[in-house]
Amino acid sequence: MTGKVDLHTHTYYSDGALSPRELVTRAHEVGITVLSITDHDNIDGTDEAMEAAKDFGIEVIPGVELSSTLGTKDIHILGYMFDPGNYQLRHTLEFLRKERFIRAERIVRKLNSMDLPLDFDIVLEHAGHGAVGRPHIAAAMLDEGLTSDYAEAFDQYIGDSGPAFEPKYKISPEDAVEIIANAGGISIVAHPGWYVSEQDLSYLIRAGIDGIEVVHPAHDSARQRYYRGIASTYFLLESGGSDFHGGKRNDYQNFGTYTVKSDIVLAMKRRLFIQ
Ligand code: AMP
Ligand code: ZN
Ligand code: FE
Ligand code: FE
Repeated sequence: MTGKVDLHTHTYYSDGALSPRELVTRAHEVGITVLSITDHDNIDGTDEAMEAAKDFGIEVIPGVELSSTLGTKDIHILGYMFDPGNYQLRHTLEFLRKERFIRAERIVRKLNSMDLPLDFDIVLEHAGHGAVGRPHIAAAMLDEGLTSDYAEAFDQYIGDSGPAFEPKYKISPEDAVEIIANAGGISIVAHPGWYVSEQDLSYLIRAGIDGIEVVHPAHDSARQRYYRGIASTYFLLESGGSDFHGGKRNDYQNFGTYTVKSDIVLAMKRRLFIQ
């Protein structure tokens, strides 16, 4: 393992633009040798990624990004190195995707009642294979000319305090940690710099989180140092990656730029007694 390590990416199995094979191919092009795909509430890209990775000698680490709720906040929990065939995990992810579907229908109905003629089928086309979410609704609104830009769709309609907002089915951070642990994996709090307060972080540590995402485009070097310090104080694992989505996000410059050292992967494996 001498190349770059990126443990946070998305494919079209959630709100990313690329297929797992396309993502793995691009990973190879930018010098990544260890990659984890962390689709939101979905692990269906794992097999295809692992198959494609053989062509490039890339190691694919099973990953997922679960959305949990703490108070009114959305806390993203990354899971790694679980058994992708675990029944409880698969069952839970399927349930969460069904709930997301029903919730997206509700949001579209609210938009329709506000005289925005958005067709739910168009939203589903944007979601493709993925768990349908607000990013797909925003993209569909943009394509249909119902908003002049992506961010405005959130600001005016579907953001957390917008008139067309509908909450997601709630799982707690403890639930997320438990689901991942029962499937044999480790859980990492994603991009804490976004909205996780110091108090939330200590709550998550008490809830049994295994590590903190230190490297992320939302963290400058001072933030990285801060989280690295917390990880070392509490004997937590460190993680990181680009959170690359591709497509309209236009974050291609992040892929291959936000990477971590391979020691991090070894530390994760050691914690799980994987050779
Ligand atoms: P969902 O899981 O369907 O609630 O969608 C959450 C996702 O929507 C987040 O991960 C962000 O990518 C995106 N999002 C949420 N709020 C905003 C916002 N105000 N502006 C842009 N994107 C947002
Ligand atoms: Zn995403
Ligand atoms: Fe996230
Ligand atoms: Fe992500």
